[in-house]
Amino acid sequence: MSSPTTSSSILPGAPQLAYRPDGLYLEEVNLDALARKHGTPLFVYSKAAMLAALAAYQQGFAGRNAQICYAMKANSSLGVLQVFARAGCGFDIVSGGELERVLAAGGEVGKVIFSGVGKTRAEMKQALAAGIGCFNVESEAELAVLSEVALSMSKIAPVSIRVNPNVDPKTHPYISTGLKGNKFGVAHEDALRIYKYAASLEGLKVVGIDCHIGSQITEATPYLDAMDRVLDLVAGIEASGIAIEHIDFGGGLGINYNEDAPPTADALWRELLAKLDARGYGGRKLMVEPGRSLVGNAGVCLTEVLYLKPGEQKNFCVIDAAMNDLPRPAMYQAFHAIVPVVQQRATSSAVYDVVGPVCESGDWIGRDRTLAVAAGDRLAVLSAGAYCMSMASNYNTRGRAAEILVDGTQAHLIRARETAADTFRGEKLLP
Ligand SMILES: *Cc1c(COP(=O)(O)O)cnc(C)c1O
Repeated sequence: MSSPTTSSSILPGAPQLAYRPDGLYLEEVNLDALARKHGTPLFVYSKAAMLAALAAYQQGFAGRNAQICYAMKANSSLGVLQVFARAGCGFDIVSGGELERVLAAGGEVGKVIFSGVGKTRAEMKQALAAGIGCFNVESEAELAVLSEVALSMSKIAPVSIRVNPNVDPKTHPYISTGLKGNKFGVAHEDALRIYKYAASLEGLKVVGIDCHIGSQITEATPYLDAMDRVLDLVAGIEASGIAIEHIDFGGGLGINYNEDAPPTADALWRELLAKLDARGYGGRKLMVEPGRSLVGNAGVCLTEVLYLKPGEQKNFCVIDAAMNDLPRPAMYQAFHAIVPVVQQRATSSAVYDVVGPVCESGDWIGRDRTLAVAAGDRLAVLSAGAYCMSMASNYNTRGRAAEILVDGTQAHLIRARETAADTFRGEKLLP
């Protein structure tokens, strides 16, 4: 890291995060001051960064009939949902709980689509009663149950079927979802038959087709291949007399964690729309379900160095954030950049494994990081806006962190830090 000048952005693609002489800022907010006021670990998100990420999609779809549904499992905090709801986004949900969050945040229920392989009857009822826009169905068995549930309520459920284009998104196996042999979607070769079955069920109305091939995708090719495969199916399904009103290409666009170079959303969609136009589907209603690419680089997690623990083979930097706050390294060996909140030029640097206090060897946040730190210093874990707080747990009875949403010079507390009492609320002592 070069020494601070007046202002230097430290993460390509995240201009809202920059060093100034007195430390790291997100928009116009000094992060060290924020950490001192609210304690650590502390998630801080930039509203401007979220809206800029959304704008890249909006620019990509300018002049088209398109709907962006934020895949809210990436970060489902109400304050974050409000930002997207106010900007006109729809939401891609995967549970009845997420539907309640959309409603609590003022989201438009007609723009909600419901994904996931295991929707319960209760969740189907809840979503039908609310009047969501579309069920993205993942199996024949689910079609049958959804039709039955809809008829029992004298309703017709709008459905899209998630097809599995069998393309390799070239990402981590745990976040690759469009290949044969994983649990998502219906096989390409079964899709036409299953569409005919859906069209025959009285409680359903076919409205669309969808796919989602994986996450943290950093190239356009898998998307282009998937689009070809999906359009082939649309042609076949429509030839059999079933109209497809919308085509949903899923989410999955990657972000820059560590010298990753994904295309921007508008560049990706320029390429995809060229293909769509060439194949004659450019006027169709389009949907996308981005999650990570809307919020991932809008957030950081601030943490304090508790202890430095030099060792024979490894030096450890023990911080107060852990795998329960930042689960991605433990789950997917994922990389988050870790930088000092205030650059300490006096301290000499060493190579550390940055680890949390949780009693698991898997509780590491970064490996072999060169840091100039002392106990009491604060660090920022970058790219922490997606799949961090929404995956956080109370393991080791650690309360979940507080969250702040920054808007210019303002810092809004959008989630209070959980207390120990919060973590065992609902538990009952034996008589
Ligand atoms: C998770 C998910 C998304 C969002 O994926 P990102 O990689 O966060 O963009 C979109 N659609 C479906 C069905 C998903 O499961």
